[in-house]
Amino acid sequence: MKAGIIGLGNMGGRMVKRLLEQGVEVGVFDLNKDFVRKFVEIGAKEATSPADLARNYPYVLTVLPNVFIVKETLTSPEGLMEGMNSDSLLIEMTTSIPSVTKELSALLKEKGLKMIDAPVSGGVKKAEEGTLSIMVGGEEADFERAKPLLECLGSNIFHVGEAGAGHTIKALNNMISATTLAATGEAMALGVKLGLDPEKMLNVINASTGRSFSSDFKFPNQVLTRKFEVGFTLDLMVKDLKIAMAMAEEEKVPMFISSASFQLWKHAWSQGGGDQDHTAIVKYIEEMFSV
Ligand code: NAD
Repeated sequence: MKAGIIGLGNMGGRMVKRLLEQGVEVGVFDLNKDFVRKFVEIGAKEATSPADLARNYPYVLTVLPNVFIVKETLTSPEGLMEGMNSDSLLIEMTTSIPSVTKELSALLKEKGLKMIDAPVSGGVKKAEEGTLSIMVGGEEADFERAKPLLECLGSNIFHVGEAGAGHTIKALNNMISATTLAATGEAMALGVKLGLDPEKMLNVINASTGRSFSSDFKFPNQVLTRKFEVGFTLDLMVKDLKIAMAMAEEEKVPMFISSASFQLWKHAWSQGGGDQDHTAIVKYIEEMFSV
């Protein structure tokens, strides 16, 4: 198989490595030439532009910070649309705004070009292991065509609906994930204030009904160790929450719990340090609780 990837950051870079390990021929493009060099050294081929990438690889994966950059990468001169043909399949893995994804999908369709949205969940560790969850929106035939490639990257692959459906569930998932992390952070900080040992607290929570991916993975690996190693930034988490809140506003539904969580995330973000790992939210909670 041959696949081109645009966006070689925390997530896209690990996907390149994983695909190379799986024997896929990989082409790469990123504005950051240091990243490009790093992956060329381990066997990827550099493309000179998104169009060049699309001319040479039937699958093109975009793993970019946001949908506005995706749109620019598609439509600018020497952008993807100039290089794609009827055999190309764009696999859009950025966490994006579903309504814009639908527009982009329709724009491509007008030109006889194909895309699916296929955002991922699981963080950098699962990207390294090839065990991501991948949620796909788009036509069934395009999903089936992408599946062998997606199986190199993920172990839980879902077709959830039409164009934009993948991006919709991804934003909702991250709203839950952000809220769970914040709630766990508050409970843990309060417990410490009340004299409990954080490790013992986690042992109890992880054997009880308060357990979540945050308590099971993020707290032991990132928070208790005080590593807060950057895998998924605070900037990106706030972007995802904005998408989820805008979806709710569009549908005129209140989001009582998620709104409170969003305010806390925005508070942390407003203090600066958006390039920190998102688990650093816990540090802001600890400061507020004076622990
Ligand atoms: P990142 O900021 O680490 O990487 C983004 C990459 O895109 C960088 O290498 C940057 O140089 C490149 N880039 C930016 N503009 C570009 C352009 N115009 N042309 C080419 N390259 C360009 O971000 P990330 O953490 O890898 O996340 C990428 C996407 O995946 C985001 O939408 C994020 O929400 C989503 N995501 C990330 C994680 C995670 O754990 N990091 C998990 C799930 C989903």
